[in-house]
Amino acid sequence: MRPLNELLRPNIAALKPYTSARDEYQGKDAKVFLDANENPYNQPYNRYPDPLQRDLKERVARIKGVRPGQMFFGNGSDEAIDLMLRMFCRPGQDNAVAIEPTYGMYGVCADINGVEYRRVLMDENFQPDADKLLAAIDSNTKLVFFCSPNNPSGNNLDRAVIEKVLDSFDGITIVDEAYIDFAGVPSFLEQLDARPNLVVLQTFSKAWGMAGIRLGMAFASEEIIQTMNKVKYPYNVNQLTQQKALEEVKQYDRVQVWVCTLLEERARLMKDFAALDCCTKVYPSDANFFLARVKDASATYNYLVDNGIIVRNRSRIALCGNTLRVTIGTRAEDDELIECLKRM
Ligand SMILES: *Cc1c(COP(=O)(O)O)cnc(C)c1O
Repeated sequence: MRPLNELLRPNIAALKPYTSARDEYQGKDAKVFLDANENPYNQPYNRYPDPLQRDLKERVARIKGVRPGQMFFGNGSDEAIDLMLRMFCRPGQDNAVAIEPTYGMYGVCADINGVEYRRVLMDENFQPDADKLLAAIDSNTKLVFFCSPNNPSGNNLDRAVIEKVLDSFDGITIVDEAYIDFAGVPSFLEQLDARPNLVVLQTFSKAWGMAGIRLGMAFASEEIIQTMNKVKYPYNVNQLTQQKALEEVKQYDRVQVWVCTLLEERARLMKDFAALDCCTKVYPSDANFFLARVKDASATYNYLVDNGIIVRNRSRIALCGNTLRVTIGTRAEDDELIECLKRM
């Protein structure tokens, strides 16, 4: 890996961050807080939240097997994606490389930041090719995005390809593991200590069942995390979110039960879906959704909408012609989908 200070945009490497009242005094047990221009009334919401979410990080670090200093929390993983582009890529000059098709936010964030986004098409089984990815990389490539299990295809990517890029690319490799809890393979978090160029993204939005509180995670070297902390908004994760997440993290066993239930339901729904007249192929899934090819995706999608059932039409995406992406719901919801499509 190139030294971090060379990879970062020069303005970020040189940045003197804003220091908030809560940065300057980090203790909690003083008697009187007159440092942050807060209103003394309306406890506890009158107080600014912990800018570094220390209590929550300590809890989650234990579950994830990392050190708190290797963690960043943001307003969804989307905040971490945006930070990566803003920290590393000089607008109009640097570029990011990504597998295609994949999660749309990488490309949108690159566009917003004026960063060239290079899409490297996968094969028809949605597997990337390391040599093609490496061929798309040049001296201005700062980031490579992987997503595994991948959205919208649902499959785990070939580990050897990700590892080859991690071994050969001298910039930052990002592995988005939003669906890792469903994947049945180890997380790249295992390799965090050995690889200073690795950033792993996870989220509370999927297996944890908390999309509504907007809490995403990035895991990386302490050096990268410190830079993220410098660039983020000081109070990017609000008090309500931190509090709710802490409560839920204490009952992590519920998440494990949900995952088991959803995995069983996934097998059942995929089998039933594959047997439908309208379906021509169900792609293998390692996530809490699957991609299916149908005879006429628009007609099927519109028919389902008319019946109050919403799936995602992915037909306009590369390699995804005439496909629908279906999230695994409750057994009752999934039954409704199947019964409805049988009547089509
Ligand atoms: C859903 C999803 C996320 C989660 O985004 P949040 O902003 O954390 O809700 C991240 N990456 C991928 C690939 C996703 O599908």
